[in-house]
Amino acid sequence: MILLHNAYLWQNGGCSASKKSIVIHDGLIEQIVTEPNPPLLSLKNKLDCGGAYVYPGFTDTHTHSFEGGLYSLGIDLSIVKNIQDILALIDLKYSKTAGTDPIFAWQFDEFSIAEARFPLIAELDSVSPDKPLILRRVDGHSCILNSAARKMVSGLDNYKEEILRGSYNDKAVHYFHGKLSEETILNAYHKASLLAMQGGFSGVHTMIGDANQSISHYQLLRDNLHQFPIKFTLYPQSFNIKAALDVGATRIGGCILADGSIGSSTAALLEPYNNSDSLGNLYQSDEFWGNFITQAHKHNLQVGVHCIGDRAITQINNIYKKLKDTDYRDLRHQLIHCELSNDSLIKDIKASGAVPVMQPNFDLLWGGKDGLYTRMLGEKRSLNMNRFSSMVRNSIRITGGSDWYITPMDIVQSIRAAMYHHNPNESLTHAQAVDIYTKNAAWLSGEENTLGSIKEGYQADFTVMSNALDDEAHIPHVVSVIRNGIIVYEA
Ligand SMILES: [Zn+2]
Ligand SMILES: [Zn+2]
Repeated sequence: MILLHNAYLWQNGGCSASKKSIVIHDGLIEQIVTEPNPPLLSLKNKLDCGGAYVYPGFTDTHTHSFEGGLYSLGIDLSIVKNIQDILALIDLKYSKTAGTDPIFAWQFDEFSIAEARFPLIAELDSVSPDKPLILRRVDGHSCILNSAARKMVSGLDNYKEEILRGSYNDKAVHYFHGKLSEETILNAYHKASLLAMQGGFSGVHTMIGDANQSISHYQLLRDNLHQFPIKFTLYPQSFNIKAALDVGATRIGGCILADGSIGSSTAALLEPYNNSDSLGNLYQSDEFWGNFITQAHKHNLQVGVHCIGDRAITQINNIYKKLKDTDYRDLRHQLIHCELSNDSLIKDIKASGAVPVMQPNFDLLWGGKDGLYTRMLGEKRSLNMNRFSSMVRNSIRITGGSDWYITPMDIVQSIRAAMYHHNPNESLTHAQAVDIYTKNAAWLSGEENTLGSIKEGYQADFTVMSNALDDEAHIPHVVSVIRNGIIVYEA
C-alpha cells in the first residue's frame, strides 16, 4: 500500500478545494480521503506531494514516437533563421556522425527563415559530401536529400524536382527508416518515452510503420512494451488488414493519408486555396476507402485515417456514417486531425459517431490573422480550423494529440493552446481541455472504466503539476509522472 498525500486532486471537472490523500494498492486507487486523516499517515510508503496538483495521467492520443525519437537524436531545425544556420548545424553534426550513418534533420519550415525556401541540394552537398542526409519539412509531407542520399533511393533518377513530395517523400523516408537496427528502433522509443514524461504524459498513442510497408516494428514494440515507463498504445499504420490481425492489433491506420497538409497545399478542400484554383488532393478514391474501412470494421478493428481538409474529412466520415447505419459496432473510428470543418460537416461528424483526434498546438502554431491558415485559406475559412469548442458543443467526443514530431509533447502548452484558441469561439474551458487528454483519451482506447479519472478502482496513473493548469499567475510545470502507483519520472 502506498499513500499519496498533501495534494489537490482533479475530480469531477475541477481541482479539489481542500487537500486529499489517495490510498494505492496493487497499482489501483483503493480509497480517496479528505485530509487530515492521521491513521493513514502511519503507512510506511508515503508520497508527499507538497501541496501539488494531481491530475489523472495525461494521454497524448496521436504521435509518431518512432520518428520523433529517432529525429530527436538528429538535427532540430526549428530554431534556424536562415540557410547559413542550417548548413552550420549540418556541418557540426557531420563531424560528429560516425561512418556513413544517415544524418536526419527535421522541423524545417521554409516560411520561418529569411530566404523562405528549402536549401538546395548543392548547398547540402557542400557540408555533407558523402554521408546521406535527409532534411524533412515540419509537417513531414516533403523533404530534400543531399546527393549521397538521393543516389541510394531507387526511382528518383528521372525525378526532376529537388524537393520530394507525395509518394517520393514517402519512398525516401521509408527507405532510410528501413535501414535501422532493432536497437536503434527501441532507443528511439525510449527517447520518445522520456520526452513524453518530461511533457507530462503517462500514456502515448503511437503510429507504427508506413501505409504500404511492413509493420515489423509493431511486433518488436508489442513484445517490448514492458520496457517502457509510459503506456504505449499501438497503431499498425498499414492498409494490410490481415497483417494487423496477425499481430493481434485491435485497431488499424493512423496517419494513413486521405489527403496531405495545408502547408504543402495538398490538404483536400471543398473550395480552392487562397489565390489559387487548386482544391488540393484526395490521395485515394471513395471506393478504395469504402473497401478498406468496411473490411477493417467487419473484423472489429478501430480505424484511424489522417484527414485535414473538409473534402477529405467528408470522404472518410461518409464511410463511417454508412457503417454506423448499416452495421453498427462500438469501434470509435477516428478522424485524425480533422482541421477544417464547416457547421454542416460538424453535424455530419456527430451523426457518424466518429472521434476527431485533434491537435491544439496546430492552432497555436498556424492560427491567427498572420498565420499559415489565413495565408493559405483566407481569413474567413481560417476561423473554421480546429473547431474544438464547436465539436464539444455538438456533443462530439474529441481527443487531444500533439502529432509529435510535428509539435512537442507538452501538456502545459497543449492545454493552454486549447483554452486560448486564436478564434475565441473555439476555446475550451480548463475542464474540457483536461478531459480531451484524460477521460476522452481513455474512451478512445476503450479503457474508460479503468483509466483517465481519479476514482476508486481506477489505475493509479497520475501527472503531478506544480499548479493548476489554468493558473494565470504561475506557469505550471510537471513535477512527476506516476504509473500504477509508482513514480516513473521526476522533474
Ligand atoms: Zn500523424
Ligand atoms: Zn497525419
